[in-house]
Amino acid sequence: MNTTEKFQKYRQLGLKLTPQRLAILEFLEGNTSHPSADEIYQHVAQQFPSMSFATVYNTLDALRRKGQILELCIDPNKKRFDPNPIPHHHIFCTKCHKIVDVEHDYQIELSSEESKGFKVMGCNIVFWGLCPECQKEELNKENLNN
Ligand SMILES: [Zn+2]
Ligand SMILES: [Zn+2]
Repeated sequence: MNTTEKFQKYRQLGLKLTPQRLAILEFLEGNTSHPSADEIYQHVAQQFPSMSFATVYNTLDALRRKGQILELCIDPNKKRFDPNPIPHHHIFCTKCHKIVDVEHDYQIELSSEESKGFKVMGCNIVFWGLCPECQKEELNKENLNN
């Protein structure tokens, strides 16, 4: 999508696309690191030093309300954002807080008894554990202690 198409798309969604907002979108595009609002701010502020954190936060909130990004409540310390709005699953490193996508379409169904009368519209699965780098670190620590 080129810049003109982006402006059109967001105008249709009722979002005014300022250069700052565009920089936020461009940082998020194809970004699979699930950044926090603060990480997004740090990055975009390099380009727009006068931009406030509130601008970033409000933009993320507007994008979320329009269904363009997902807000993830996986990291206990901070909300993380996902530019891929198509529901998918995640694996979380409890040590370094890395979040990685899990590309697997789980077919999980609740019986009517289990769903307690809810109309179920989706489900997010979060796996957790140690990422390869943190496993290596743990291993090195063990070796040092022995
Ligand atoms: Zn890790
Ligand atoms: Zn994701």
